Amino acid sequence: MLNIIIFGSPGAGKGTQAQLIAKKYKLVHLSSGEILRQKRGQGELGRKISLYQDQGRLVPNSLIIKTMDSAINHQSLTQGLIFDGYPRNLAQVKALARALKKHNQEISIVLNLQLNQNQAIQRILLRGQSSGRLDDNLKTLKSRFQVYRIQTAPLIKYYRNQNKLINIDGQPTIQTIFKEIDKILKKL
Ligand code: AMP
Repeated sequence: MLNIIIFGSPGAGKGTQAQLIAKKYKLVHLSSGEILRQKRGQGELGRKISLYQDQGRLVPNSLIIKTMDSAINHQSLTQGLIFDGYPRNLAQVKALARALKKHNQEISIVLNLQLNQNQAIQRILLRGQSSGRLDDNLKTLKSRFQVYRIQTAPLIKYYRNQNKLINIDGQPTIQTIFKEIDKILKKL
């Protein structure tokens, strides 16, 4: 079964490509940011999530790992999964591997969308005009990029050492990027 991580900085195009991949390859798209956003209205838990998201900080591992474990366990796992926004640090990498192993599954490939910070920021600010996301603003972005650089980017090396990492140029159009990804996935 095909289980993919779509990786990259904020604004690199993970969500857009994950949707296209999920549709074509019939995978379940699990976006951690989206799953958390859906819980924002839910009492104390929702308030906690909002606090972290609106400051551009990662929610605590205990919370996100429990949330994603539960999202994985709710799947029939007759289809592969595509993870978007998860994992974002080493503890989450380990938790994800454990959760998949319970179902005799593992990550097949990590697609790393590469886009420089200036271009990514331009995209997010544009998205912010229509997304309604409170964290799509310059102040929060600064912190989101810092978190990415310090905690998340080091995972690239981890997955490269496991021979699972494929770099993808995130600059061209959505369709051009998708064609590139499609070529790679077809060969698997
Ligand atoms: P995203 O939609 O992936 O840009 O995520 C938006 C926000 O949700 C992040 O800035 C974090 O506050 C939170 N979030 C999403 N995924 C994770 C994760 N894997 N670990 C911790 N926090 C997360």
